[in-house]
Amino acid sequence: MKYRAIKGTKDILPDVSHQWQYVESIVHQTMQLFGYHEIRTPIFEQTGLFARSIGELTDIVSKEMYTFTDRSEESITLRPEGTAAVLRAYIQHSLGEHNSLVKMYYIGPMFRQERPQAGRLRQFHQFGAEVLGSSSPYLDVEMMLIPVTIYTTLGIESFSLYINSVGCSKCRPPYKELLKTELKKIYDQLSPDSQRRVEQNPLRVLDSKDESDRKLIANVPLLLNYLCNECSTHFEKVQSILNMLNIPYNIDGKLVRGLDYYTKTAFEITSTALGSQDALAGGGRYDGLVEELGGSSTPGVGFAAGIERLLMALEAIGNLRIESPSPQLYIVALDDEARQYAFKTAAELRSKGIAVELDYLERSIKAQMREANKLQSRFVLVVGSNELTSGKGLIKHMESGQEFSVDLNYIELPM
Ligand code: AMP
Repeated sequence: MKYRAIKGTKDILPDVSHQWQYVESIVHQTMQLFGYHEIRTPIFEQTGLFARSIGELTDIVSKEMYTFTDRSEESITLRPEGTAAVLRAYIQHSLGEHNSLVKMYYIGPMFRQERPQAGRLRQFHQFGAEVLGSSSPYLDVEMMLIPVTIYTTLGIESFSLYINSVGCSKCRPPYKELLKTELKKIYDQLSPDSQRRVEQNPLRVLDSKDESDRKLIANVPLLLNYLCNECSTHFEKVQSILNMLNIPYNIDGKLVRGLDYYTKTAFEITSTALGSQDALAGGGRYDGLVEELGGSSTPGVGFAAGIERLLMALEAIGNLRIESPSPQLYIVALDDEARQYAFKTAAELRSKGIAVELDYLERSIKAQMREANKLQSRFVLVVGSNELTSGKGLIKHMESGQEFSVDLNYIELPM
């Protein structure tokens, strides 16, 4: 029996993990620039938290969650997204009591039992941010600006921003009824998935991926034309801020997103460098969610972005050639005594912050030199009985071939 990673999950192998570390470092740096602090919540939570916040009728909750009963008979779910747990922590630790505005970000794995395909996994990784305590439209735009800044820092230019307003508890319910009436007129021609949504979640019919559905709903009324004053003023402000920043965007009146908690702004960022799964990031405002989860009424806005998709976009544009870390010095040892010297010296140099590699396989000098080359070590020091007797050795700078004499008891790298 050979065990394999579970379908839809992937090992991030040692030859590519530095690419992840690089992207993650840009995420951490950018979040810091914008004044966000990292929050790390558990990977699993009570199932009710997700059902309550994401919505019972969404695809995520109704068919994609990894839910199990633990040994205490409690229903547990592996987090399918980041927002619910961040808000749970915000409420549990009364974070809003100490600061009127709380800016947080996260980075880590999420779990959804979707049909695996290129760019769609069952364990995938997201980074995202949440701001709680303000209904300022500047923060809606900040949620777009953070991923945009990360993409441009990494050299990804080929992305598009789509924005919409999904209204609030005042203007959405009457629009929902109107949409339902319209959809019932074409009910028989809709796909089975959309038919199921007409009664309970009609807005989701708008973002159906089914071609024939899309034609049928081409001219249904859009919520954008039925927003209350507050929502439409907010939406206009978001647009004027984007204009001020010269960030190009498209208004997509059919963008509703797969999570039920959004109010007012919803947005998505897609990339033409990706295939059919072209969404890089998405987010929006969720002014009622903290209250829904038992906290006091607190406005909030956030975004989440996929890391696998980001890496795919980087690969597509040829920007994934991030160098893997290499040693500063490789010590080639020719006999037992030299191996002992190499191990001791490596420990000393590493304690001073110098990355050193050596041979553990008692290989020939030639094989050790080959290894040093393969690892792209900057310098190589060859040590045998002659060097140990004289206490002196030659350090070679691999790129230039230049050699420097060093004291074996006190090694200093020439540059
Ligand atoms: P969502 O939480 O569904 O709004 O997704 C936000 C972002 O996470 C998407 O734009 C994708 O980049 C990424 N994402 C969502 N689901 C998956 C998945 N199953 N596999 C890989 N990436 C995903």
